[in-house]
Amino acid sequence: MGMNRRITRRDFLNGVAVGIGALGYASLNDFAPGLQNASRVGGGSDKTDPPALTGMRGSAPGSFDVAHALRDGNFWETAGAPADTHETYDLVVVGGGISGLAAAYFFRKHAGNSSRILILDNNDDFGGHARRNEFRVGGRLLLSNGGTQSIESPSEYSDVAQRVLQDLGVQTKTFYKAYHQTLYSHLGTACFFDKETFGQERFVPGMGSTPWPEFLKKCPLPGKVQLEIARLYGEKKNYLSGLSKEEKHARLAKISYAGFLTEICKADPGVLPFFQTYTHDLYAVGIDAVSALACYRNPDDYGACHYAGFEGMDLGGDEEKEEPYIFHFPDGNASIARLLVRSLISEAVSGHTMEDVVTTRADYSKLDQSSSPIRIRLNSTAVRVQHPDPIESAKEVEVSYVQKGTLKKVKGKSCVLACYNSMVPYLCPELPEKQKEALRYCVKEPFIYTHVAIRNWTAFHKLGIRQIVSPGSYHSFTMLDFPVSLGAYQFPSNPQEPMVLFMLRTPCKPGLPRRDQYRMGRFELLSTPFSEFELNIREQLNRMLTPAGFDSARDIAAITVNRWAHGYAYEYDSLFDPHWAPEERPCVIGRKQFGRISIANSDAAASAYTNAAIDQAYRAVQEQVKGV
Ligand SMILES: Cc1cc2nc3c(=O)[nH]c(=O)nc-3n(C[C@H](O)[C@H](O)[C@H](O)COP(=O)(O)OP(=O)(O)OC[C@H]3O[C@@H](n4cnc5c(N)ncnc54)[C@H](O)[C@@H]3O)c2cc1C
Repeated sequence: MGMNRRITRRDFLNGVAVGIGALGYASLNDFAPGLQNASRVGGGSDKTDPPALTGMRGSAPGSFDVAHALRDGNFWETAGAPADTHETYDLVVVGGGISGLAAAYFFRKHAGNSSRILILDNNDDFGGHARRNEFRVGGRLLLSNGGTQSIESPSEYSDVAQRVLQDLGVQTKTFYKAYHQTLYSHLGTACFFDKETFGQERFVPGMGSTPWPEFLKKCPLPGKVQLEIARLYGEKKNYLSGLSKEEKHARLAKISYAGFLTEICKADPGVLPFFQTYTHDLYAVGIDAVSALACYRNPDDYGACHYAGFEGMDLGGDEEKEEPYIFHFPDGNASIARLLVRSLISEAVSGHTMEDVVTTRADYSKLDQSSSPIRIRLNSTAVRVQHPDPIESAKEVEVSYVQKGTLKKVKGKSCVLACYNSMVPYLCPELPEKQKEALRYCVKEPFIYTHVAIRNWTAFHKLGIRQIVSPGSYHSFTMLDFPVSLGAYQFPSNPQEPMVLFMLRTPCKPGLPRRDQYRMGRFELLSTPFSEFELNIREQLNRMLTPAGFDSARDIAAITVNRWAHGYAYEYDSLFDPHWAPEERPCVIGRKQFGRISIANSDAAASAYTNAAIDQAYRAVQEQVKGV
């Protein structure tokens, strides 16, 4: 399968990283990501251009070890006192994702161009989840979104968030032309049944486009299960006919989609393995842990899986026409992060338009220059954020961080914590207990977004498919990348051209409460070495596509596994969470201002979207500029 080819950066250390707490904390030098990265081999390895690095990305090895030592309580045992950099800022931001970058943007708008701002981020790249993946195949540049995919429903963005996009030069109407909406229109969806789950291996095209009874007849499912799935899709019955719309919504809010199928639609439980992963892309868990109401309200973004059973339910709400899912830069919302950086430090991302940002190579050496009022310091994990004086009279905040193995401190008149909210209690242990408890409630959803650069996509063309649903396999979903050409970037529209494949895995443990599934999933994600991901990628692609002439060993040019241990912000769910009054929600209690410290990040809205990250940055900055 080509496992030994020198095409990727292999990571031999990441499997060990998760056990760092158990191994004990040796010295700060052990937490220098640069040193650890050096021991990998193969593939894109230009460390001055992080988007071009392949192999294990996202939460890359070495980027989270300091934070985990802090969590495990053994960081300060040997850390000593921080070295004073004697740097002082008007604002220090912890977290260089969209929220942290937007906080700097809002603060500078208020305080003027000479205001001094420092942004700290633990990764070797900025953007947080909004990360860029680059590949070069046969001299051709291929881009993809390492995490944050698209500007979802831009018309629903707040005025503040819409103004930010406008200021950055993002015209969403451009995507109506840039997104090639008909390129894949003749290509459909296939379902891959693996023998371990379904008894027989079979690849069945025509999912969702062939009438269900006809499609299901080709599937390796028992006859009774085929009839049941066909019934669920076909009978259009109001299964709760005695209830009003509101009562039906209330009932569906309290039952999982799995429960809805078996208890309300009275389907044979044998149908469940077929539907199990329908919810993975949006919720990172299966249908056992997502309410039927959520499934009804949020059909998936890729249009691959259409939830069965709701059509005759008369649940209302169908009249709202959703915006198309086309607001996608070739590198996803990394372009928004790059445009924000351009607006803050123009030399770092040259150019002027939403088109030219796509192919501009960022100059990482310009991010942290003493001559610049705004600085972005990467590979720097904040470990302590405190008022040196009593909070009522404090005039500044001290922020300690570890950069390449050295513990340092800076001072800021204000601080915005735009990092994961569950990290905040470790940074500010003096916060009130109730607030810390609320911050800990957010258990972020783990995701693995893998991108595989392939030399051509003729196998997909031959099979007449653009995406594959694979409910029992290691990756539950595979698709050709979003077809977007913008500025000088041209999407590979010919099947003979190289292409990027997206493969999704959301490790979880069906049957457990949702947040426990995320904790277990995160453990799996962090303890899986790159070699195991790679083997599964190669094996699964071969099993699905070899009959159409695909060969992993020959056709894979590069692999980037973006593992997001702390992915989507936790969104409250009617199945597992109490129904709080708005001001009693943990995100609201948790984000309360604490003197010169305010809290941002999409976690602070319990909403896993770019606009939430921007809105929370705005609120946090407003707190500081009004309160200071
Ligand atoms: C795989 C994936 C796909 C997504 N797709 C979409 C999409 O299509 N559309 C959409 O709107 N949203 C999407 N999201 C949601 C996305 O999280 C938000 O859109 C937004 O980018 C979150 O930004 P943020 O700045 O709040 O958080 P983050 O992006 O998580 O940024 C926080 C940053 O803080 C850093 N940090 C944490 N602790 C510390 C510390 N102690 N010191 C220094 N730095 C620290 C983190 O490493 C990170 O870089 C997606 C998320 C994921 C994971």
